[in-house]
Amino acid sequence: MDAVFARKALIERGWANNVRLELRAGRIVSLVEDAGPEQGDVEAGVLIPGLCNAHSHAFQRALAGRTEKRSPAGRDNFWTWRERMYALAGSLDADALAAIARQAYVEMLLSGYTSVAEFHYLHRPAGTERADESMFDALRNAAADSGIRMTYVPVLYERAGFDDPQPQGHQAQFALDSSTFLDHCARVREQQSETLRCGIGVHSLRAVTGDSLREVAAAAAASGLPMHLHIAEQQREVDQCLAHYGRRPVRWLLENFDVDAHWCLVHATHMDAEETNALADSQAVVCLCPSTEANLGDGLFPLHAFLSAGGRIAIGSDSHISINPFEELRWLEYGQRLASQSRNVASLEEAHVGRELFQRASGGGLQACGIDSDGIAIGAPADLVALHDDDPMLAGHGEESLLDALVFSGYRLPVDRVMVHGEWCVVDGEHVARDDTRQAYTATLRRIGVAG
Ligand SMILES: [Zn+2]
Repeated sequence: MDAVFARKALIERGWANNVRLELRAGRIVSLVEDAGPEQGDVEAGVLIPGLCNAHSHAFQRALAGRTEKRSPAGRDNFWTWRERMYALAGSLDADALAAIARQAYVEMLLSGYTSVAEFHYLHRPAGTERADESMFDALRNAAADSGIRMTYVPVLYERAGFDDPQPQGHQAQFALDSSTFLDHCARVREQQSETLRCGIGVHSLRAVTGDSLREVAAAAAASGLPMHLHIAEQQREVDQCLAHYGRRPVRWLLENFDVDAHWCLVHATHMDAEETNALADSQAVVCLCPSTEANLGDGLFPLHAFLSAGGRIAIGSDSHISINPFEELRWLEYGQRLASQSRNVASLEEAHVGRELFQRASGGGLQACGIDSDGIAIGAPADLVALHDDDPMLAGHGEESLLDALVFSGYRLPVDRVMVHGEWCVVDGEHVARDDTRQAYTATLRRIGVAG
């Protein structure tokens, strides 16, 4: 039986010393505190549960650093970025998607994410008319090859905008009618396994009709699947929703749907005070993606008000301009500090902000990904991140400030090993398939002609 011994571990009740875990069939089957290492154990300095990346568009990894040049018009924003993203999407076949996704997933594992919710609307490979399963197969294989636990979240995309029923240009690659979409969801649900779960969703309120959203939400409720959608990311979208439905996006959703803990609302950046309180009450998770939201110029989420009202949050790396959960949490807090000219904003339950953010992102991420786990606990999936306790980032930090150091120090992460479902994917600070993955990624970018 595989076993791990950690000098310090963040278990369900908090920090514990000299913890020995025994693992079987991908799960933790025994946990003993104040133990000693036994022969054959893998030894770790600090052991923490892996985090869920609750919002990913894996293909956008290939765009990182390629949209930072001012356009001649000098009026760059989310919508101009989107044109670049569409151009990339338009160059992807299934092989390209698999190579890019595998690189993104390897980078997630290296930074301490052990699961990912892949929010997928790229249903057709470039140059094909017919929707098939090849893009799903690409993502499933990329996840399996990297070792990451995946919640596959296919999303419906029907139209260009609230009053624009036809998809335009590259959006045709995303478009499916709702019955074809629901058939796809039903087929992939049959492929679920211990490491592949399914969710379901719609791209956004602007990309689907109200009737289709009702169909998808009903399918989610009938199957108990996590239900994801982008919402209120951009002010323009709020204005268009107000014009079309006479309500702001979050208000309209809450008035028309039974939004509950199965729902994951991505961004929810632009909410008024009433929406903020009502969404917190619903117990839905809001997935925040601070590095992407900053990169795209989205705006700032009302974090303190939402948490004060009992709201739940998760984090995601979304466009993958950066892949590092601790950086996401750092910028989540820093945005609030910059806006409020104060410090230690997200500390409502814990005195230590790093610890509170980590705990909230852990719980909310599991909820959004539909994973049943209590972290490092008997019966939980063995999704573990081992850190070097002699790394300068963690040196001298005790139980109180260790997570603060990880979130706020911002140095190279002291990741030693990462395990998903009982398998070590990262050993000695490197992913076990690093070289193959990099070569395939680089060759793919060359083949599809991605330029700076
Ligand atoms: Zn997104």
